[in-house]
Amino acid sequence: MSDTHTAEKLDIRAIMTGDKPQTRDERKLNFWERMYLPEIFKGLVNTFKHMLKPSATIDYVGPTSRPDQRHIPAVGYRGEHYLKVDDKGNEKCVACFMCSTACPAECITIVGEETPVEKFGAERFKHPRVFEIDMLKCIYCGMCVEACPKDAIGMTTTYNQVGTKRSQFIYDKDRLLKNNDEFMKQLGLERSGKDTKTSTYPLSPDKCGPDITHGLADFRVGARQSGV
Ligand code: SF4
Ligand code: SF4
Repeated sequence: MSDTHTAEKLDIRAIMTGDKPQTRDERKLNFWERMYLPEIFKGLVNTFKHMLKPSATIDYVGPTSRPDQRHIPAVGYRGEHYLKVDDKGNEKCVACFMCSTACPAECITIVGEETPVEKFGAERFKHPRVFEIDMLKCIYCGMCVEACPKDAIGMTTTYNQVGTKRSQFIYDKDRLLKNNDEFMKQLGLERSGKDTKTSTYPLSPDKCGPDITHGLADFRVGARQSGV
């Protein structure tokens, strides 16, 4: 390499100001510094010192994790999705595609179809025959929840998905409805949306609905997270 590429020649300040380039005066290491042993010893002392201190980090959930250190998110945490159901137990989704349009990861697949009147009643025209979310593509942004005009999709607090095949992370309608059942059970609610007994929306910040759930600390659930 030519001299023009040495540190002295690349003194940017000197180039900018036209001053004489400064040479770098590199400090010579003494014997012990060249041995590195004192520095390694200092590092080990630091490591052992911290080993004796209580851990400040939160454990990943598992059978051996300490209950007081588990990460138990509040409702409003953006975990796995769930599809909400109406009073009749049917999915509230009307297959309008607003969520899939808003989804930046393009991971929602919907195939809509006409609703059978005997199951959904006369007031419902359309529902999803297929509703799938590719959880491996999802970035858990919550845009789908925000975009839904029917308050038909929500996000649970479950974040620890484990699987051995990619196909296990394509959540279909059944899985998303099952998530709804499990999440409501954790929260001790009959179902999402309006509680017909009290005429309030328990998962709404002002209890008036809809279930836009952002950090409702009243609901802290850990059933699914404990000792999975
Ligand atoms: S959370 Fe975001 S990325 Fe995931 S499905 Fe909803 S909109 Fe798409
Ligand atoms: S979940 Fe909501 S936004 Fe998505 S298709 Fe169903 S009704 Fe429309």
